[in-house]
Amino acid sequence: MPRDASFRDAYGRPLRNLRISVTDRCNMRCRYCMPEAEYVWLPRQSILSFEEIDRLAGIFLDLGVRKLRLTGGEPLLRHDLSALVRRLATHPALGDLALTTNGILLARHADALRSAGLRRVTVSLDTLRPERMASFARTARHGEVLEGITAGTAAGFDSVKLNTVVMRGYNEDELLDLLEFARVRGLEIRFIEYMDVGGATQWDMGQVVSRDEILAAIAARHGPVQALEEHAWAPAERFRLADGTTFGVIASTTAPFCRTCDRARLTADGTLFLCLYGERGLDLRELLRGGASDPEIAVRVREVWASRTDRGAEDRAGLDRRGALYQIDGLRADPRREMHTRGG
Ligand code: SAM
Ligand code: SF4
Ligand code: SF4
Repeated sequence: MPRDASFRDAYGRPLRNLRISVTDRCNMRCRYCMPEAEYVWLPRQSILSFEEIDRLAGIFLDLGVRKLRLTGGEPLLRHDLSALVRRLATHPALGDLALTTNGILLARHADALRSAGLRRVTVSLDTLRPERMASFARTARHGEVLEGITAGTAAGFDSVKLNTVVMRGYNEDELLDLLEFARVRGLEIRFIEYMDVGGATQWDMGQVVSRDEILAAIAARHGPVQALEEHAWAPAERFRLADGTTFGVIASTTAPFCRTCDRARLTADGTLFLCLYGERGLDLRELLRGGASDPEIAVRVREVWASRTDRGAEDRAGLDRRGALYQIDGLRADPRREMHTRGG
């Protein structure tokens, strides 16, 4: 199949990044993502095998995708994830292979993942206080997350980054401590605005700590914050402090970056979404299991990408009155609307 990086969506955006969710299950219950007591899970038999994921990844790489990121739910709950990494890492067209994890199981798997060919890891860390994580994310495993970060740092990945969702009334008072935690370990931290997407049924604008507030808090402590040249297609804006420390802010809520969005998302059951906020996806599992050839699947992906007009976060930012995107009934009706199903 010929390589084809030339096709663009309706707004001229190429398809370069694919986030692959390998499971919708999670061993945490972060309030901004999975606040409910009960969930509707994707049926077991619908979850793609590693062979199926690898085959789809190959098709996307032929279409011009260069970066793959494994996510979930919690991707390290998927048995022997290194075996998938090993398969994906062999694709010659692959430019980058990364993982987003909550870190709980990272210490156990970091070396195997690295030797299998994983290049970069992002660990979500919202608080340095175990008791906060216990009440906010319903887990007592804060110590294991910290061990995971240490093991990830020691494993020799090209980079280990930290992701922090900042919420008013939860962790906005820890910004500087988290920045310092990252600085002393030589890690880059990215502060993420709380988004109204998927399972964030309790979202309201009052809990969003904006990019401007985040920068002001950091500048008040560290002095001038210098904006670094933006990488045109990256969601994070990067900044540097006078001592050389760099950090990022992902302002998805107050300053969305849809105009440069080159990402698609594949759920664990093989549904392709063109936007984090997308209402409906394309069922690639049906095509795969129905006997479609690689070129036939590629044609379908090409078609949907070519007609892509999504700019979900910008649409949301333009609303006069804004609340959570979905309430629980909407999520139960289709679990693919959940953030933990589409991979964040
Ligand atoms: N479980 C893994 C983890 O937490 O890193 C991977 C999946 S998680 C859905 C991916 C990312 O989405 C995490 O960094 C998480 O903080 C982020 N996320 C989830 N819900 C969010 C929300 N409502 N607003 C902003 N970020 C969110
Ligand atoms: Fe938290 Fe990630 Fe699990 Fe969502 S998927 S509850 S963000 S750990
Ligand atoms: Fe891309 Fe949709 Fe996020 Fe905008 S809201 S950056 S189009 S995934």
